[in-house]
Amino acid sequence: MSAPENWLRPELRDMAPYAVADAAGLIKLDAMENPHPLPPGLKQAWGERLAAVAVNRYPDAAATALKTALRRAMGVPDHAGLLLGNGSDEILQILMLALARPGACMVTPEPGFAMFALIARAVGLRYVGVPLGRDFALDAPAMLAAIKHERPALVVIAQPNNPTGNAFDRDAVAEVVAAAPGAALIDEAYYPFAEDHCLAWLGEFDNLLLMRTVSKLGLAGLRLGLLAGPRDWLDALEPLRLPYNVNTLTQAAGTLAMAHYDAFLAQAGQIVAERERLAAALARAGVIVHPSQANFLLVRVPAGLAPAWHAGLREAGLLVKNLDGGHPQTADCLRITVGLAQENDALLAAWGRL
Ligand SMILES: *Cc1c(COP(=O)(O)O)cnc(C)c1O
Repeated sequence: MSAPENWLRPELRDMAPYAVADAAGLIKLDAMENPHPLPPGLKQAWGERLAAVAVNRYPDAAATALKTALRRAMGVPDHAGLLLGNGSDEILQILMLALARPGACMVTPEPGFAMFALIARAVGLRYVGVPLGRDFALDAPAMLAAIKHERPALVVIAQPNNPTGNAFDRDAVAEVVAAAPGAALIDEAYYPFAEDHCLAWLGEFDNLLLMRTVSKLGLAGLRLGLLAGPRDWLDALEPLRLPYNVNTLTQAAGTLAMAHYDAFLAQAGQIVAERERLAAALARAGVIVHPSQANFLLVRVPAGLAPAWHAGLREAGLLVKNLDGGHPQTADCLRITVGLAQENDALLAAWGRL
């Protein structure tokens, strides 16, 4: 009688946790991390700053210094409110928890970021996926039809999208945001690698929430994400944020990192250059490489070969993500995070031997 299944909420009963592959000993090209270590000029100050942190005290619950530093570095407009999370994953959880009224749903294009569906399910928010169109373009008419039919509490668009890597047409995204009856979230996790950004839209839509993370910028281990948007929306979410969700070390390190924002953007620039080199080399090797505005490439290999090629790369010491067997639109696809030049060379050498 005391077995968990007798007591758990039904939606949790056969839910699997988010799977993280074991990368021990492998070149890690699976998780969209920035492959560069901390910018060298920052190391000493980083050590001194963290050594001075009063870890015996609770963090600043309002994270005032860090918020100021993030606003300044990223150019978040003064009129927008700001909420910080332990990674943007936590912000998604806060937002979906807030919106999961009985019968409420969210609408998002798919294939999309796996956490959208996972968190929606965990908090009891019905998930409605709308297939992307040709070449993974946002199917605006299908999105608008779903919005009209479902009246979702939340519409989510990752711009650029994961796992496809492309950025959607700006006007199509704006049309969808304008049509959302509730909150519209644009997840800009890959903004450091993209040509276009939506931060400037914050004054234009009263339902637009814009989320970013420092994870892809080079600080995945800090666990720090931010949500900017209209103050009435952010004030409404604040009670769900646990008071000390961003720890003292992250606050100190994040504040320092934002004072050196240009060094991180320079690394992102190097990653973009490597992305273009890797994309061209893989295309020459005869596979389909989808256009990317992110720090990874979606590659379509010959039909049926994705599992074998994924395993072959692992044998050669390289970890990439196999998307085959997931969403039908990414059948035969591998997702490759752009690494350092020498890591990308190792990938290309192994690719030639597959
Ligand atoms: C990686 C990723 C995130 C998660 O970021 P964290 O801040 O590390 O939790 C959010 N959204 C998308 C689309 C991502 O790919």
